[in-house]
Amino acid sequence: MSAQLNQHDFDPDALRKKYRLERDKRLRQDGNEQYQEVSGEFSYFVEDPYLEEEIEREPITDEVEVVIIGGGFGGMLAAARLREKGIDDFKIIEKGGDFGGTWYWNRYPGASCDIESYIYFPLLEETGFIPKQKYTNAPETLEYCRIICEKFNLYENACLQTEVTSTIWNEDTKRWLVKTNQNDEIKARYVVHSNGPLNRPKLPAIKGINDFKGHTFHTSRWDYEYTGGNSHGNLDNLKDKRVAIIGTGATAVQCVPHLGAGAEQLYVFQRTPSSIDVRNNQPTDPNWISTQKEGWHDERRKNFETLLTGGQVKEDLVSDGWTEAFRLLFGNLRDKAPSKMKMATWAATSIFSSEMYKKGFKAYMTDKAMEAMDIRNAMQMADFQKMEQVRARAQEVVKDEKTAESLKPYYNQFCKRPCFHDEYLDTFNRPNVELVDTDGKGLEEISEKGIVFNGKEYEVDCIIFATGFEVGTDYSRRAGYQIHGVDGKTVSQKWENGLATLHGMHSRGFPNSFFFGPAQSGFTATYTYSLDEQSIHLAYILEKALDKGATRIEATQEAEEKWIQTIIEKARLTADFQENCTPGYYNNEGKINQTPQNNTYGGGPIEFFSLMEKWRSKDNLEGLEIN
Ligand code: NDP
Repeated sequence: MSAQLNQHDFDPDALRKKYRLERDKRLRQDGNEQYQEVSGEFSYFVEDPYLEEEIEREPITDEVEVVIIGGGFGGMLAAARLREKGIDDFKIIEKGGDFGGTWYWNRYPGASCDIESYIYFPLLEETGFIPKQKYTNAPETLEYCRIICEKFNLYENACLQTEVTSTIWNEDTKRWLVKTNQNDEIKARYVVHSNGPLNRPKLPAIKGINDFKGHTFHTSRWDYEYTGGNSHGNLDNLKDKRVAIIGTGATAVQCVPHLGAGAEQLYVFQRTPSSIDVRNNQPTDPNWISTQKEGWHDERRKNFETLLTGGQVKEDLVSDGWTEAFRLLFGNLRDKAPSKMKMATWAATSIFSSEMYKKGFKAYMTDKAMEAMDIRNAMQMADFQKMEQVRARAQEVVKDEKTAESLKPYYNQFCKRPCFHDEYLDTFNRPNVELVDTDGKGLEEISEKGIVFNGKEYEVDCIIFATGFEVGTDYSRRAGYQIHGVDGKTVSQKWENGLATLHGMHSRGFPNSFFFGPAQSGFTATYTYSLDEQSIHLAYILEKALDKGATRIEATQEAEEKWIQTIIEKARLTADFQENCTPGYYNNEGKINQTPQNNTYGGGPIEFFSLMEKWRSKDNLEGLEIN
């Protein structure tokens, strides 16, 4: 370690020990099994509270070129990119009452996105839309979804309030049969599965959930009729209510300040604290976007993701808490690196990869210099330093000593989704708000009257589950429908022991199917960016297929096997980082690399996008059988 790296105000060994202790406390045998599927007697948790009117219509029996499943950003982008290529014969099937996906469902008070709006919103140059603030909120995002739909005339292709129940391949007709809960039977040559990576709410398997006599709901189905108010807050109906919220992830961090302001009494039940960094939202300078040159949007999102995955850029265009993590690392290495070095400290979700760092360092240093400097240690020191800042912020803001201590996260910053908020911590200074720290244990019991923890019953009128969404469970369980491919083999059967795709998009045995999502693909912090790249890729393939008069597109066995090996190979690089993390959905609840092929592309999104671009530029649909 360099002398400079020793000059910190923290004891790295003590922190290492503490991190290990906090992780070990939380490791559990049941992993993903600790959660309760929201079905059967729990299905009331997923009813749609936002519908103004239920549609009644005759079943559709139709035939189209493309069915797109999901009307979130993925589905909207797929449709928009197909329209751009002149492919108009498609239907979008969406279970919600409108487009929006994540943003249709997640309307909880305070809901917003902490990826900068100028990069999070796709198609900004096409629509000419100017977001009001650096970080947008849920109402503006939903408004923007409508703007996209109107711009690309997507409503005329939409079947809303319609849930796909199955898709079945017919080898004779080379068509998929898409069945829905509205008794539709739609035949399609191609099906795009864009059903969302965090689409299925989950509950902890706490005994007694259904015994509770008070009111209850999941944050992704917020009951404004009960709480009053809207996504901006003002939860007036709670002023005489005692409320409990379970979970302290990114969702809870945003709605807790509004619950604290509205409820008579709020109990926040915490298993693991989130890291809460500075948000510093700003209004958009009206002249700024209008003076941007053509191509600015793509350049900006590429700039951001490049920084976050170890690449070099001339200037940090977004310059916020996400990219600041990099600047801290740079500060630590100033004695070794040229002053203009730019380096990322993070890779989205579980794809933290030392390879990315090395790639970035190589741009500035000889191999020898790299070896001389213990990069891994330097990264760890930078992370300790960042998290010391985060912990100091909790200490500074929260007055009660014990509560402040409970709110300090002891893990590396990207073990969990980092949060950025300027009111969350201060909420715990309210006299009506109490943090109940379960010290990593989590809750195990709910009674008729409220929550039981450590022998104490917390009587409440309402329990809100901010317990997140299923990740890593069976694909069709999350999607809500089964996919029956060649010879009736289902996607659940094929992927039972691990994912098998080419580029995350094709899977042998499921011809003419296109999968959208992060699995075996390039995943970005700006998730809409990944979806846009997948849409561009899809539109390219379908245009080629049309040109060729193709009826059947399927990944070859060889290409698929090769891709799985690539994913496994790249996943190895991230395993040690994940292993040291507290459990959560980023590291498969602590069960790392049992199925290493179930990862995103470990080389990072920018590398993945350029791989796909190269693949397209060869113009021979390599790895796909076309008939
Ligand atoms: P998460 O999965 O991140 O959080 C779930 C929470 O529930 C965790 O705090 C978890 O604790 C807790 N929990 C689970 N089981 C129990 C139990 N038995 N007892 C007590 N607590 C329990 O879900 P979120 O909805 O918060 O976020 C999901 C994702 O959505 C984020 O990671 C992010 O990607 C996205 N998001 C982004 C936002 C943004 O841009 N700001 C805002 C909101 C969501 P533990 O940590 O110990 O597992």
